[in-house]
Amino acid sequence: MTKPIQTDALPPEPRNFTPEDLGAEIVRRLTYSIGKDPSSAKPNDWMKATAYVIRDHIIDKWMESTRQTYESGEKRVYYLSLEFLIGRLMRDAVSNLGLLDEIREALDTIGVDFDAVASLEPDAALGNGGLGRLAACFMESMATVDVPAYGYGIRYVHGLFRQQMSDGWQVELPETWLAHGNPWEFERQESSYEVGFGGTVEALGENGGETQRCSWKPQERVIATAFDTPVVGWKAKRVNTLRLWTAEPIDPILLDAFNAGDHMGALRESNKAETLARVLYPADGTPAGQELRLRQEYFFSAASLQDILRRHIQQYGDLRSLPDKVAIQLNDTHPAIAVAEMMRLLIDIHAFDFDEAWEMTQQIFSYTNHTLLPEALESWPVPLFERLLPRHMQLVYAINAKILRYAWKEKSYNDDQIRSISLIQEDGERRVRMGNLAFFGSHSINGVSALHTDLMKRTVFHDLHTLFPDRINNKTNGITPRRWLMQCNPDLVSLLRETIGDGFMDDAGKLSELDKYADDSEFQARFAAVKRENKVRLANLVSRRMGLRVDPSAMFDIQIKRIHEYKRQLLNIVEAIAHYSQIRTHPERDWVPRVKFFAGKAAPSYHNAKLIIKLINDVARVINNDPAVRGLLKIAFVPNYNVSLAEVMVPAADLSEQISTAGMEASGTGNMKFALNGALTIGTLDGANVEIKEHVGDDNIVIFGLTADEVAERRANGHDPRAIIESSRDLAQALEAISSGVFSQDDPDRFKDLVQGLYDHDWFMLTADFDAYAAAQRRVDELYMDEAAWYPKTIRNTAHTGWFSSDRTIRQYASEIWKAGS
Ligand SMILES: *Cc1c(COP(=O)(O)O)cnc(C)c1O
Repeated sequence: MTKPIQTDALPPEPRNFTPEDLGAEIVRRLTYSIGKDPSSAKPNDWMKATAYVIRDHIIDKWMESTRQTYESGEKRVYYLSLEFLIGRLMRDAVSNLGLLDEIREALDTIGVDFDAVASLEPDAALGNGGLGRLAACFMESMATVDVPAYGYGIRYVHGLFRQQMSDGWQVELPETWLAHGNPWEFERQESSYEVGFGGTVEALGENGGETQRCSWKPQERVIATAFDTPVVGWKAKRVNTLRLWTAEPIDPILLDAFNAGDHMGALRESNKAETLARVLYPADGTPAGQELRLRQEYFFSAASLQDILRRHIQQYGDLRSLPDKVAIQLNDTHPAIAVAEMMRLLIDIHAFDFDEAWEMTQQIFSYTNHTLLPEALESWPVPLFERLLPRHMQLVYAINAKILRYAWKEKSYNDDQIRSISLIQEDGERRVRMGNLAFFGSHSINGVSALHTDLMKRTVFHDLHTLFPDRINNKTNGITPRRWLMQCNPDLVSLLRETIGDGFMDDAGKLSELDKYADDSEFQARFAAVKRENKVRLANLVSRRMGLRVDPSAMFDIQIKRIHEYKRQLLNIVEAIAHYSQIRTHPERDWVPRVKFFAGKAAPSYHNAKLIIKLINDVARVINNDPAVRGLLKIAFVPNYNVSLAEVMVPAADLSEQISTAGMEASGTGNMKFALNGALTIGTLDGANVEIKEHVGDDNIVIFGLTADEVAERRANGHDPRAIIESSRDLAQALEAISSGVFSQDDPDRFKDLVQGLYDHDWFMLTADFDAYAAAQRRVDELYMDEAAWYPKTIRNTAHTGWFSSDRTIRQYASEIWKAGS
């Protein structure tokens, strides 16, 4: 056991917080850390110098939090996630430290603009979408509600690709967020671990067998080295650590190879190791199906577990107390291999017997399921798994035997049930099912909205739920109100503080005090003025980036999220076409001016998603340039959706499009961001929309379409899209216009197959929901025209969505799953 940390050895030096002193600190950092003279410093130099000063202020708090957790012996939470969609950190950090005004003033005195500096920070996109953004919101909330926590992931050199438009098509460019260094992180050379792949396994126990102690001799080894980023909670109550791993080759091998004259071989090894942390898989809802992906998953799980066990042993001397002091949350199945790795470490390295190790593992782990889409349930071919991870393969078989025996003997499971819960998929190619492994190895399995949790119990995990009825529970997702209200909508925050005081900033639930102002016409006018300013800001962005002029008094109707058929951007654009046609044939009517905004990336291999982007852009070109439309409808596909773009678009929305096929969106978090910022939702009864409706009230949301049960019923009893299309004139005409090339005269057949898919199978029930959606849009128009009806509704959205704060979600995880925090 090592010595406890010497608290009196730490500098008690007080920090200065006046703008003058902060200004001097920034100049000092610019001079001595960046090596630039203030007179010749570039904006990027100021950005870094500012980040360093903010970081200095975080560090004292960071050390204090670490020390306090150590001394109190509190349980630590480890959040394992292959994705963290962080975005920029400067505004977050400085605002949570309570230094926003001071830093702004400090820069002012030097003649530097804070907003300009903040906008130079690269947007860290180490994730694809909702799952990765949830991990980032959770990190901030864990620090806020004072849960001692570490996030563990991979420090990808290239995050999610940068999206560019070329003639309306998505083009993927490499993203290089680290190109100019990353001022927030600290490399921890001392925290590095070996991670092995391949090789052989030798039994060490007297009678051999896979449940006995074994020795794994990997064929390849790489080194994982930690990079730490501090995560500051609201009012800097606590600072936690996001620890991201990078991969390097093992030096001795390289040296040997170099010394033996095998320079190319040495280079190859080095490339192979570094490839592990090179790219984030741009796949959302589709398995990458590639060896590298499995290697990444094992690499970061194995490094994280070694780090966790090392920290525990250092503090407590042995591992018996591990389940009392450690909770590990698996964000989806990407880190599910950690279950087998924990078993290996406990049995092979620390000499626990199998049953004891299994007991501990289940107490430590919990798992969050994020999707029911069958194509997104991870599994790996047995031969690949066995080749890369031979010892883990043995343990998977041993765990499987134990559970299946229990199901068969104690619960009389029949062959079908046994087949459905097995860790090995036996029909067709044999594969290891990671969802079942995560389920077996966890004491808690949670869904991310009430509906999704209910569907989990009834569908994919039905037989597992019957076997372990107390494991599945719900934790409806949330968003951090710091980033998604306070930082992205400062004018609204000023208005709210003036109206209901500051209480909502500590407790988003207090936003409900706003309800009594919903019918106050003076407040409505001020709320409307803030919305208008936010719309002007978005209009300016669209004008600057795309050369498109939009009118801020038009309704801003926004759908931003990954492009996916189940999210139904196609439904939105087809309805826009039908609406366009109505505007042309009925110029006499009072149409409500609308701008339809879209943004989102398509996975590079997802053909239909990319085609939908092209369709949106083709339709936009025709509608935006048709004089007969008289500006009553405009379409804008804003390129390169990321967190920073969302921070501008969300506060500018009048209408939030949440129109997935019911039963397919596990929760959604975009829906929460919009409602919190005072947009009305048009949506299906899917994911968290159901709970948003319960909180804001039926009158303050526009719901349409099939329910999840009705979708399932149609799937089972046959869905006849052709008949539906033929009975809906507007839909038939819109589809006919697309497939006949009205929007693609340069290539009339471009969208033929896309439309044919709707006639043939329509997997996502677009046709079934079309008329209801179009009718709902016209209801929205009527409401928008009547300001006295509209504003009370949007105000009540802000007032009643405080519950969707990720602070609430994290408190539920902490008390019900982790048994951690205060
Ligand atoms: C919130 C967010 C998401 C998730 O949006 P959904 O509408 O829930 O799919 C994805 N990407 C970014 C950048 C986000 O900020």
